[in-house]
Amino acid sequence: MSTTASAFTPSVSAQRADGQAIGYLMQQGIENADCLSLAAGFVDPETLPTALVDKTASRLLSDSETGKLALQYGTTGGSDRVRAVFRDYLARLEGDEDRVHNVPLDQIMLTTGSQQLLALLTEAIFNEGDICLVAAPTYFVYLGVLDGVGAQVIPVKTDDNGMCPDALDAELRRIDELGQLHKVKLVYVVSYHDNPAGISVSNDRRPKLLEVTKRWSQDHPIYLLEDAAYRELHYDGEELPSIWSFDTGYDSGDQQHVVLSQTFSKSFSPGLRVGLSVLPPELVKPISDLKGNQDFGSGHLSQNIVAEVLRTGEYWDHLAGLRTSYRAKRDAMVAAAEEFFSGIDGVTWRTPAGGLYVWMSLPEHIPTGFDSPLFARATEVDKVMYVPGELCYPSGWEDRPRHQMRLSYGVLAAAGIREGMRRLASAVRAVIDS
Ligand code: PMP
Repeated sequence: MSTTASAFTPSVSAQRADGQAIGYLMQQGIENADCLSLAAGFVDPETLPTALVDKTASRLLSDSETGKLALQYGTTGGSDRVRAVFRDYLARLEGDEDRVHNVPLDQIMLTTGSQQLLALLTEAIFNEGDICLVAAPTYFVYLGVLDGVGAQVIPVKTDDNGMCPDALDAELRRIDELGQLHKVKLVYVVSYHDNPAGISVSNDRRPKLLEVTKRWSQDHPIYLLEDAAYRELHYDGEELPSIWSFDTGYDSGDQQHVVLSQTFSKSFSPGLRVGLSVLPPELVKPISDLKGNQDFGSGHLSQNIVAEVLRTGEYWDHLAGLRTSYRAKRDAMVAAAEEFFSGIDGVTWRTPAGGLYVWMSLPEHIPTGFDSPLFARATEVDKVMYVPGELCYPSGWEDRPRHQMRLSYGVLAAAGIREGMRRLASAVRAVIDS
């Protein structure tokens, strides 16, 4: 008997992945290809290091020894030779050589972008119904990953200084009073210039968030996932220490709580898909086991290319140029916000000190979602795309704000950013006046 395609039922995991914001957003991007995109979180194509990657790959491949190594499998978490270079890089970033060099190489894991690490970690620690506390708003693609494992996602009050430690404490107390503390597995924070709101966790809150997480780790460790994806896209103000740097477990050998996740996607090239993480020791095996089932190692050539530009120092020159370029584009977006939105009552935005995003709030009665009059007007008439802010809150949260937007200055050049903002302001005015 033959079966038809319609008889196919996707697995529960696949069904949970269906309808996730990222898929929908990508689809909207395709359908609205004629729009200027303030939506895409992509990096600026003009800044991609094509010549440097070309030169580096040629050098690696023209030497038969390094070429053969790079084209061979590595190991699941990355070969020791390459990991050692990444550890040196982290030591420079952290500014504490001894502390970083004390981390055993196997606790340093290389993944296919940092997204793979987020997904593997989540799969490794969550059972259905377990709880993750997240900043609100937060990185919407990670919300999809949490939905994928059937996690309960609880938003924690977040302000201009990042997630509020007192609010985190209060949530954990409330969960404890409900007898549910055993279900709490993770606190998730994008610690630098976050996606979507451009907020960094302030200096004083960094150790406090960790301290609260540790205090409620009573019968089992609650981990703090520090997603530092935008750490190096820093344009002005003080450079902040990582939350990881406050995790004394890494110095004393006691329980370690922070998983530090970094990526070379924003600071170098997303196409190479190189993510770097530091894991507490007991997470190494389960995450490697899961990764082994997927790919038993990420692209070894990519890892070798990034390791090589780290080794030569060319990476840092590239980064300096990138910062200058993005700073100018950030300024262009903020200037355009002033120019076009300052006359509209109830519109506010935040100037980020780094990253790729400006977070804008409209009057509360103006929803921004895919099904809102504003989204229709912006994409159909004014020809501009943005990310609706409501995607960045847990989908099950009834009271989530619906009047915000994530605007990215990543892809467009300064003139396109200004034009995109002009169009968006025109759409907002039209909807407010209607
Ligand atoms: N974390 C955050 C906060 C991000 O914005 C992104 C990319 N948009 C990622 C992780 C994953 O990026 P990648 O897999 O390219 O490292």
